Amino acid sequence: MSTHQRYLIAGNWKMNGVLSEAREFIRALAENPAPEHVEVALMPPFTLLHPLADKLSTRGVRLGAQNVYYEPKGAFTGSISPLMLRDAGCRYVILGHSERRDIMGEKNDTIRHKLDAAWNSGLEPILCIGEHLDDRKSGNTNAVLTEQLSVLEGSDAEKMLTIAYEPVWAIGTGVTPTTDEVRDTHTFIHQKLTDIGKDHRVLYGGSVNAANAAELLGLPGVDGALVGGASLQAESFSQIIQAAASCANN
Ligand code: PEP
Repeated sequence: MSTHQRYLIAGNWKMNGVLSEAREFIRALAENPAPEHVEVALMPPFTLLHPLADKLSTRGVRLGAQNVYYEPKGAFTGSISPLMLRDAGCRYVILGHSERRDIMGEKNDTIRHKLDAAWNSGLEPILCIGEHLDDRKSGNTNAVLTEQLSVLEGSDAEKMLTIAYEPVWAIGTGVTPTTDEVRDTHTFIHQKLTDIGKDHRVLYGGSVNAANAAELLGLPGVDGALVGGASLQAESFSQIIQAAASCANN
């Protein structure tokens, strides 16, 4: 693991969840409280941040958002600022998710602004990076990751960063990279961040579920998981948290 002692298990609900479902989820999640040495965070849609903040924090679950805009306030219809996320009780914000890169056309420039805005307002960014299948097949994975990590050039090394390595071809597909691929890629990312002196950790994301979590989390260089589909059900999310707990004990 990196300088961080605890695994982070973060659930990205994407565009899923209404209040009644979220309440039921939290009630069910509370039946299996997270062990001390596993940090748990939930990234629901914006509409659920305020209503869930207190309920999650009393259960030791941290709150995060799935996106943010970089301006502090003003005429940016439909956008949410870092200050608003802080006000809603967020600690984390996901940036650069492949769905935002590929569907919403987000580029490095925008992601760089968002990173700075998040840090400046006291949010901790979870920066998603990952290659497409073509890149993996043609041996370009590290080049793609290097290009995506270039958003960190000139950033304050002291600001804590969580990276989520999410191969795009593994997201929502039920397919995961081999253990060698995960280990080698995490080693590469850790080295890159160590070279620029950045305090960091590296999560793995992409089809993590209750059945494969222990194997993935047990790999060197994997400091936690960013979980999509399997975070929507309290039962599978709890099982992933328990898998992290057992890895931490080993
Ligand atoms: C994600 O989109 O961040 C993700 C990891 O999704 P899934 O777990 O569903 O593959």
